[in-house]
Amino acid sequence: MLPTRRQVLSSAVALSMAPLRAGAFQPPSVPAPSAAPVGFDPWVEVNAANLAHNVSEVARIANGQPILAVVKNNGYGLGVTTVARLLEPAAVVAGFAVVKLHEAHALRDAGIRKPVLLMGPLHESEFTDVHRRGITPMVYTPVGNALERAAASHGRPCPIHVKVDTGMGRVGVPYTEAERLIRDLAGRKGVRIDGVMMGFTEDLEFDREQLRRFEALTGRLAADRVPIGRRHAASTYTFFQHPDVRLDMVRPGMALWGVYPEQAFRTAGTLDLRPAVALRARVAYVKKLEAGSSAGYNRAFMATEPTWVATVPVGHADGWPRAAAKGATVKIGGRAFPVVASVSASHTIVNLGRETSVQPGDIVTCFDWESGSRPEDVSAACGASVYDMTMHLGGHLAKRVV
Ligand SMILES: *Cc1c(COP(=O)(O)O)cnc(C)c1O
Repeated sequence: MLPTRRQVLSSAVALSMAPLRAGAFQPPSVPAPSAAPVGFDPWVEVNAANLAHNVSEVARIANGQPILAVVKNNGYGLGVTTVARLLEPAAVVAGFAVVKLHEAHALRDAGIRKPVLLMGPLHESEFTDVHRRGITPMVYTPVGNALERAAASHGRPCPIHVKVDTGMGRVGVPYTEAERLIRDLAGRKGVRIDGVMMGFTEDLEFDREQLRRFEALTGRLAADRVPIGRRHAASTYTFFQHPDVRLDMVRPGMALWGVYPEQAFRTAGTLDLRPAVALRARVAYVKKLEAGSSAGYNRAFMATEPTWVATVPVGHADGWPRAAAKGATVKIGGRAFPVVASVSASHTIVNLGRETSVQPGDIVTCFDWESGSRPEDVSAACGASVYDMTMHLGGHLAKRVV
């Protein structure tokens, strides 16, 4: 079915939401830093200058296409509203994507005005409420009637993105059936397709086949002037594996936070990423262990000589991985000290050796943006996945923008 003239027009409005001229890049805001917390609860720091740098790096590789910033799962540890507020002023950031409905609401509650794409599942009974809040659902099943009802209750069409499965085998309408669904949705007065999207399997060869399937589909729709908004697929991996694949919008998470998903990418020269996140805490207690004394559950650490240890009140319940006890160091006063025994729910034990100048209240850096203590360095030292370094940071941690 051919779209009505009104649909074509409203789709054009959607596309023009992020007009991008050469030189239109405007960096995210860099607010005045807040003070370091004085208490003993660990906290997360967000480096606004590094975030702005990463946005400009991603904008460079996006080559004029807008960025849909993926801020799912607590903004990868940085805080979903904290990062969205920092990114929203950047003209190149067209909107935000989350997976959980509560995070889409959190963005609207925080006053975020740019489009918010919900990439997770949504029950039909929630369409009307989501539409009222200006949240854009990602759909891939025949939900046209429910969308029409939601549109009617607010007197304006529901914006959507359609997810196409080109081989990932997760959510998304199979690419062989996508044309029928998209034509049905595009032909409805109550629906406005702002985007058609897919995700790569990150298998170098098969990614190309996935792209062929996607381009064949969207090419047929475009030939019939079916309004499908922006086509998007590229996540952080894609920038490194297929830097030529941008389509009409890019959809990164990790790259914005400045963390390389693979060590090999650090030296690839494709993107200069600077970590925008740090985990810090304060030394709670320092004590001397005599030779033969132990520390930790199961006496995991045994002092073979007089040894000073510091207790740091950060643990795996905060998102600091248990694996940190298998080789990670933390920095206190610019010096690296090994994590010993085990990381428990709320505590980490640090071996100070013969160092006696460390005091309760001293700031401990689990990871930050300095060379040697980047999340990639710490994960490599202890065998944790780099995703575990930031993605699991607890939503309860205070955020300090520096
Ligand atoms: C998480 C996610 C992204 C971003 O992935 P990164 O590897 O962090 O860049 C993009 N698209 C979808 C559908 C996602 O779930």
